[in-house]
This record gives sequence, C-alpha cells and structure tokens, in this order.
Amino acid sequence: MISENNEVCLSIRELDERGDLDDQRLLMLIDTAAGDGYLFTAADRKRRLVYGDEIYLRGLIEFTNYCRNNCYYCGIRRDNKAAERYRLSDEQIMDCCRNGYALGYRTFVLQGGEDPYYTDSRICSIVSAIRSLYPDCAITLSLGEKARRSYQAYFDAGANRYLLRHETADPEHYRILHPEDMSLTNRKRCLFDLKEIGYQVGAGFMVGSPYQTHAHLLSDLRFLQDLRPDMIGIGPYITHKETPFAGFASGSLELTLRLLAILRLLFPYALIPATTALGSVHPQGRELGLKAGANVVMPNLSPVKVRRKYDLYENKICTGEDAAQCRACLERRVAAAGYHIVTAVGNARKEPFC
Ligand code: SAH
Repeated sequence: MISENNEVCLSIRELDERGDLDDQRLLMLIDTAAGDGYLFTAADRKRRLVYGDEIYLRGLIEFTNYCRNNCYYCGIRRDNKAAERYRLSDEQIMDCCRNGYALGYRTFVLQGGEDPYYTDSRICSIVSAIRSLYPDCAITLSLGEKARRSYQAYFDAGANRYLLRHETADPEHYRILHPEDMSLTNRKRCLFDLKEIGYQVGAGFMVGSPYQTHAHLLSDLRFLQDLRPDMIGIGPYITHKETPFAGFASGSLELTLRLLAILRLLFPYALIPATTALGSVHPQGRELGLKAGANVVMPNLSPVKVRRKYDLYENKICTGEDAAQCRACLERRVAAAGYHIVTAVGNARKEPFC
C-alpha cells in the first residue's frame, strides 16, 4: 500500500515538474484516489504561480434551446418532446449584456442548441451589435458545429472565442453517445478550423458519461495536448430522464475534481472553469473545483424565466436567481474558497517560449 502510494506521489511530482507523464502512469493517476490531496495541492500551487488568486467571470447567455441534434445524453435533444422550447429576441440578448456589463462581466458567452432559426446573418448581426457597444469585452460563441465559412463570418463580425467540447476523443465512444449523423471527425475539424481562423478555442468533455472508461479519459487528455486549446471545460455527466440514457448513473464529483487537477498540471496556462454541472452534483462543487485548479466561473445571465428551460441535465443549479443575485452569491463563494473575482476580459496567459 505504502509503495503504491509512493508511486502515486512520485508520478504527481513528475507531472508537476515536467507537465506530462507516460500513458501508464497518467492512467494510474486517473484510476486512484490515493493521491488526491497531494494532487489538488500541486494543482492549486500551479494555478497560483500562473494566475495568482484571480478568478475570471464568463456571463453565460443561453439564448435558444431549440436543437437539430439528438445527442443521447442531452436534455435539449431534438426528440425530447417534453422540453419547452424558447428563443431570446435580439433585445433580450442585448439586455442580458447590459445587465452583465453593469455587474462587472467582460466576457459574454452566447450558448445554444444548434438552432437553424439563427442563420449566419442573424448571428453576425447579434455579434456585431454586441461588439460595437462593448469593444472592451470578449464575445464567446458556443453554437455547435458549423461550416468553416460560418465560423469565419462570426469572427469577422467580432466574435473572438468559441467553446465546443469534443465530448469524447475516442471514435467508438463518440459513436455510442451520438446518433449516426454526427461524427468525431467533424467535431475535430470544427475545433481545428476555429483555431486556424484565430479564435481562442475551448474544448472539453463530460466525466462519467455512459460507457466511458478511464482509457477514454486518457485519450481525451492526449487529444487536448494535440489541440492545445486556450480553455478546457469539463463537468460530470448528469442523467436526464427524457433521454435514452435515463437509466445511467451520473458522473462523480471525485473523478471530475481529479481530472481538473490533472488538467491544471498538464496545462498550466489554460483557462479552466468550475462548471455549473460540478456545482449541480455537490453544493460546494464549484468551490472544490477552484481548489483543484480551476480559475473561471460561468454564471448565468439569461432571463430568469427561461433558465429552467435550458435543461441539459437534471437538478441544474442557479435556475431561480437573477443575474445580480448569482453575481453576489458567487462573490461570496469564491472569497470563501480563498480566491477573488476580477473585472477583466481574462485572456489565457501566454506560455513563455523556451
Ligand atoms: N450546442 C452546443 C452547446 C451544447 S450544451 C454545442 O454543441 O457545443 C453545452 C455542453 O453541455 C455540451 O457540450 C455537453 O458537454 C454538456 N452537456 C450536455 N448534456 C449534458 C448532461 N446530460 N450532463 C452534463 N453535461 C451535459
């Protein structure tokens, strides 16, 4: 037992110093809880070295829950007839930004299902309206898979960041989580197109999704090393009863925290959110995420009356409070965890050349 623990500690130390590990030892770290305390301490030390105690805010505007896709895990999938669908008007979106700006947000994240109503020209006009009113803000889009020319058009209109989780980097696992008409190849194509265009790109995956193995998680880490994204978003998979995966258990807090810490050591310069899903599986999930190496929180700026409808998974937190209440609540939580929220656009720090 002691020698196994030693092996774990030595591996964490190497990961900390070298920023990488061989497959076998990385897999061992994913597999074992024995080193968690040491791992979280190392990850927190690493984030403080690069980012101090700063936490960046992203104001999330969930502007449509219509979706043409049918991902088996997702509560807003096309075939969920029980979902109450909504779209925000341009005015409502601009109101969210105005409200958010006054509360100190300098990044707006427009996220939605893949909703054909929002044609490229509609997206571009929303993006350019936000860009001209808030030249000092980052505009992040999270609209799913599009053609390269669409991504280029949004970028030219003023968007500068894009979040698109790869979900799983293993092609067979991807096949199990998604219907035939979706492919990992296209998802990856999107991510590399976005990078080439000049977006700051966020990728990521769910932890504990149905049929996921630890070997799949290792592939996720290796894929991220290949992509080198600016942002990495992970959160536990959470079951939704109106999906084909209704019978599966949700992912665990513990494994998600362990992966957050491993990510921080693999990617010291990345922006890593303590996600809403993490806060939804444990009352202190987001605070624990920050202590394990995360440095971003993404509170909701959507109007309260639609919050409940952006129902990706069950028991999603923060569906009852307005934006000001969410902001105040997070301020308290972040401070209690030992960090502080800054009013800043919060770009990823640049890796020094060596
Ligand atoms: N249409 C956009 C946004 C999807 S929703 C896109 O394709 O990127 C944002 C993220 O929520 C997804 O990328 C997925 O990782 C996560 N998500 C969806 N269903 C979930 C569930 N049941 N549990 C946890 N996370 C989920």
